[in-house]
Amino acid sequence: MAEAISIHPSVDQGLKPAAANFSGGTLVCKCARDQVKVKISGQCAHNHVCGCTRCWKPEGAIFSMVAVVPSSSVSVVEHGEKLKIVDPGQTIHRYACTGCGVHMYGRIENKNHPFYGLDFIHVELSQEPGWAPPEFAAFVSSVIESGVSPDRMGAIRGRLRELGLEPYDALSPALMDAIATHTAKASGALKS
Ligand SMILES: [Zn+2]
Ligand SMILES: [Zn+2]
Repeated sequence: MAEAISIHPSVDQGLKPAAANFSGGTLVCKCARDQVKVKISGQCAHNHVCGCTRCWKPEGAIFSMVAVVPSSSVSVVEHGEKLKIVDPGQTIHRYACTGCGVHMYGRIENKNHPFYGLDFIHVELSQEPGWAPPEFAAFVSSVIESGVSPDRMGAIRGRLRELGLEPYDALSPALMDAIATHTAKASGALKS
């Protein structure tokens, strides 16, 4: 029998479609009490599973699940005093709960960054159904850096394709093109 592969608890049983006119929800950390709550007003975009070693992922999952929303739609509504930036030296400032370690949102402070104005969130922290499901798998080869044996990669990529999550070893081509376009406009190689 083939080994069961847990990509992420939110995708292992198949993807659920986005709800029409979805208006957002509240992300809640995993503390038993005094939970940090972050309200998101609106649907997420570019949801994907990510194999990098920096995104927060639940226990036992090989991938994280991460999406973006406009920073203006993110508001910390309860226990913001428990939040701390994981590594201020990183491009993405990931605000984690100091109680349970869950990353509540990630923000880019560099105004020249292609993704400036967007925050990264994990929609699984919200009880509200209807978030847009993941569309692809990013940084797949990077799961090896978190200890996954390289000889499992064929099975992992196979499972991702079975779920409809095309595996890429960076971001998806659309997002890589968006980053390169931003860089080319900044350098003048492309006229906007
Ligand atoms: Zn917490
Ligand atoms: Zn990641």
